[in-house]
Amino acid sequence: MMLLLKCPACKNTMKYRSQDSSIRGKAKRCVYCGRSYQVRPAVISTTT
Ligand SMILES: [Zn+2]
Repeated sequence: MMLLLKCPACKNTMKYRSQDSSIRGKAKRCVYCGRSYQVRPAVISTTT
């Protein structure tokens, strides 16, 4: 499924293709501002 990750620093969203929910708890680097953040449920949006 396709997830949308919202950067907590700059509020930009990035698409992320995931086969499952293993992205949760991982660290992700924002492609816009370069900051790393932990992928929590609050930053995940699922596309419809
Ligand atoms: Zn960012």
